[in-house]
Amino acid sequence: MISYNEKGDGVRQKKRIVLGIGMICTLMIATVYMSRFTHIIAEKEWKVLNGIVVVLDPGHGGKDGGAQSGEIMEDEINLTIAFQTKELLEQAGAQVILTRDGDYDLADKGAANRKRQDIRKRMDMMNAEDVDVFISIHLNAYPNPKVQGAQTFYNEKDEASKEFANLIQNKLKVLTKSKMTSKPGDFYLLENAKTMGVLVECGFLSNPNDRALLVKEEYQKALANVLYKSIKEYFDFLM
Ligand SMILES: [Zn+2]
Repeated sequence: MISYNEKGDGVRQKKRIVLGIGMICTLMIATVYMSRFTHIIAEKEWKVLNGIVVVLDPGHGGKDGGAQSGEIMEDEINLTIAFQTKELLEQAGAQVILTRDGDYDLADKGAANRKRQDIRKRMDMMNAEDVDVFISIHLNAYPNPKVQGAQTFYNEKDEASKEFANLIQNKLKVLTKSKMTSKPGDFYLLENAKTMGVLVECGFLSNPNDRALLVKEEYQKALANVLYKSIKEYFDFLM
């Protein structure tokens, strides 16, 4: 038999134990939650493009060298810029898919229409479900050698593509000191894109000034930096 007071003490003691366990549990949950939260902040700071999937499409390749000036081939420069952009994007946490990583096109051996099959296969890679953005990288050429500058083309039916193109074009204007503006492009890739993306003509191989810059590694890196920074800015704003 226990007295009323002893009974009261026992209940109070039990309450204190339950309260203590409750506090320990709360502290443990809070610690785990906070450590996760800190982890997310750290990743956001250092890897701003985590979870973003980018398709970079270096135009042409294989038998189709694209625009040409003497020994200088468009497809080679496109590929170099794509590699440099890929490196920057991956450092920022993005997953990067290249439509080609060497001197070849995507058409099957003996394809009846190589060009069409090549473009369709690139299109399929860009339109894959998990892709967030694509950039098709090209160089231009024009009969009048005075025409120069870099220009971004967007999908007219997609407001996001236009916005992204303007972001790139503004940076290209600073780099190239060109007055060119972004434009809707009537390219198969843009017109059939289900994913948001643009086509960038990085300069004219037919213009002596552009050509002299486009072959320089330093300038190719500056172009890659424009593409990287535009992607970073676009997705950092959305996140
Ligand atoms: Zn091209």
